Amino acid sequence: MASPFTEDHKAFRKVVRDFAEKELAPHVDEWERDELFPNWVFKRAGELGILGAHYGEDVGGAGGDFWMNVVSSEELTRCGSAGVTMGLLVQASMATPCIADLGTDEQKKEFLEPALRGEKVAALGVSEPGAGSDVAGLRTTARLDGDDYVINGSKTYITNGTRADFVTLMVKTDPERGHQGISIILVPTDVKGYSVSKKLEKAGNWSSDTAELFFEDVRVPKRYLLGQPGMGFVYLMQNFQSERLVGCTSGLAGAKQALDRSVSWGKERTAFGRPIMKRDYWQQKFADLYTKYEAGVSLSYRAADAYNEEKYVKNGMLSMETTRLVSMAKVFVGEVTGEILDQAVQFHGGMGYLEDLWVARAWRDQRLLRIGGGTTEVMRYAIAKLMGFG
Ligand SMILES: Cc1cc2nc3c(=O)[nH]c(=O)nc-3n(C[C@H](O)[C@H](O)[C@H](O)COP(=O)(O)OP(=O)(O)OC[C@H]3O[C@@H](n4cnc5c(N)ncnc54)[C@H](O)[C@@H]3O)c2cc1C
Repeated sequence: MASPFTEDHKAFRKVVRDFAEKELAPHVDEWERDELFPNWVFKRAGELGILGAHYGEDVGGAGGDFWMNVVSSEELTRCGSAGVTMGLLVQASMATPCIADLGTDEQKKEFLEPALRGEKVAALGVSEPGAGSDVAGLRTTARLDGDDYVINGSKTYITNGTRADFVTLMVKTDPERGHQGISIILVPTDVKGYSVSKKLEKAGNWSSDTAELFFEDVRVPKRYLLGQPGMGFVYLMQNFQSERLVGCTSGLAGAKQALDRSVSWGKERTAFGRPIMKRDYWQQKFADLYTKYEAGVSLSYRAADAYNEEKYVKNGMLSMETTRLVSMAKVFVGEVTGEILDQAVQFHGGMGYLEDLWVARAWRDQRLLRIGGGTTEVMRYAIAKLMGFG
């Protein structure tokens, strides 16, 4: 496949890289310790056009294609904290694409445009204590009462959850109808009955906040319903694909940095009188890992190309074929980047296990890719279903 990156993408890459390396990287150790990166990061990313690069000019974006999103997901990883990258990607690629696709002009003005400027923080509320992979099993309800929806229930694992200004929320508007009863409602967080019931402690991605949200008779006007009632499941499955793709491309970018940094380090570090990178064992190991990395990029870019063609060039819905490719990329990249980071720890010996070096953080942060946004097992289940195995 020829490079999908034009001069515009390359110029944008430089903007994001400078932002990550010069404005974010110097602070990430502190943010990891604080378990929160500050809100100015959203604002600054908005000012630089990073959040809106792949959105239309009509909503304040730059009118770029999906490759812009790939570029930002890859370059943000240079800040050295996957938590920061994740918070920004939730804002620009997970909680907001469905507003661009389905929103009314008023909804775009009230929610999407300030989110792309980084003035409002967005969260995506799908997972619940009793339903993660099985989205159709979610229990949060929204009952129509006059001109309002009244929402009751809870969400968990919500990224940006402690400080979100609004939540793109999956609810059941018709609980009797299973997945056909799911709808999406945009919920501002300054409404009565909304609370953050718990900030969650995590194994990795420390600088990103993750929360449990609680809704008790939360009343929002009916005009906050996104798209058609009962179509939320279908919309969400479309929305998931960009989330999974940028998860792959950012994961791979982080893994590539880990490979390059490890090889440089191994050329200096000696054991038994020789640099460890001179050992056949590690040369073969790294040859394999770089090969798997390249295979991951090829598969992800093929899926991104299909996504770009269907969503941006043809302006339509995603096909099952594209969903299948994205699911395959999520499985493969999750496992390959997991192997790369695990070997990076091993290669660094005791140093790989200490907080003094970048390796331990990168290793524990990477682990999320096999869980968040659809587990590896569920992705395999989806592939089997899409290929008609059962
Ligand atoms: C740090 C972090 C950030 C997150 N951010 C968000 C967010 O912003 N918004 C949001 O809505 N969610 C978010 N999530 C939730 C995430 O998407 C879910 O954790 C994930 O979808 C898995 O759901 P679950 O945890 O309920 O696991 P479960 O669904 O309970 O799965 C448990 C195990 O069962 C396996 N399993 C389930 N179904 C099958 C099957 N059919 N076949 C075989 N095995 C199966 C799973 O693969 C897994 O191994 C986040 C999670 C984390 C950890």
